[in-house]
Amino acid sequence: MNRLGQGEFEIIEQLKARCESSPVVRLGIGDDCAILQLPPGELLLTTTDMLIESIHFRRDWTDFLSLGRKSAAVNLSDLAAMGALPRALFLAVAIPADLTAADLDLFFTGFLEVCHASKAVLAGGDTCSSKGGVSICVTALGTAPETAVVRRTGAHPGDGIYVTGTLGDSALALQWLMTGRTPPPELLKRHLEPTARVEVGRRLGTAGVPTAMIDISDGLLADLGHILTASRVGACIEIDRLPLSPALRAVGDDDHLLYDRALTGGEDYELLFTAPPEAQGEIDRIATDVDLPITRVGTISETCGEVTLTHAGSLCPLPQHKGYKHFSAGA
Ligand code: ADP
Ligand code: MG
Repeated sequence: MNRLGQGEFEIIEQLKARCESSPVVRLGIGDDCAILQLPPGELLLTTTDMLIESIHFRRDWTDFLSLGRKSAAVNLSDLAAMGALPRALFLAVAIPADLTAADLDLFFTGFLEVCHASKAVLAGGDTCSSKGGVSICVTALGTAPETAVVRRTGAHPGDGIYVTGTLGDSALALQWLMTGRTPPPELLKRHLEPTARVEVGRRLGTAGVPTAMIDISDGLLADLGHILTASRVGACIEIDRLPLSPALRAVGDDDHLLYDRALTGGEDYELLFTAPPEAQGEIDRIATDVDLPITRVGTISETCGEVTLTHAGSLCPLPQHKGYKHFSAGA
């Protein structure tokens, strides 16, 4: 039995009534296409991410308000990672018959809240029924002047490697959920409702600070690997510099486990970037302005693809696995 009590068109009408206006979106929900007008001289940056029930989330672990927030945030995170200003989001949802109208409403509320916070608007999408679980597919559009766009390709030997915020919180929460334990609330929130680092990404890009940048969705080592491949360089990470939150430390795991999680745990949605030594002053200023720590965790080296880890100056072994991969055994 369908528990929604409303059809596709009613859902879309209600959603349309809740959408904000924007100077970039000339026409939003309601016609066959949205019409966007780019600010003069700016480039359009576009990204898509899916969230599929049982792959990316479980309904017994997340509520729909959090799921709505996360669906917007993970897409905005990709825009942040290239220095773009979010402008418009498109939301495709497949809704199974057992979803309630209240849950769907909560989902849209969370999604629109995060859009609003980043000054982007929902400009279109698609709504259909599902015979399986809930499927969500979001496309996010952002703009930036060409000089502010940061790719993965520009890291140079001698550049510092930096991360925003703290690492490993989300991974700990997921690990505890998977083993039937209730994670500490602060860590659970970081897993269920990650924050996209939109402001800091845009500030860094506009200031021309990063030589390369990426958001950490699959784990620090895995995502750093993408920068190394694209830039044809290597890296040394000083693991005792990895930023860990007080809440993560308070869990009481030994250092080895904490660092391992910070290196390989996914879904931090922090930014990882490289910058030359002379950018340190500007990085510190931006960190103060946006009130978010930015920590130097290592240095780019010459040998393409090679990663070394040190602890208190001594070499230490790489973790067995680097991060989450779809289609691998156990995924
Ligand atoms: P069409 O069949 O022409 O694709 P739809 O009936 O799917 O049109 O959609 C009508 C309008 O509602 C379009 O502007 C579309 O972008 C918008 N829309 C549909 N579903 C959603 C959604 N989940 N979120 C935002 N906009 C939506
Ligand atoms: Mg359609």
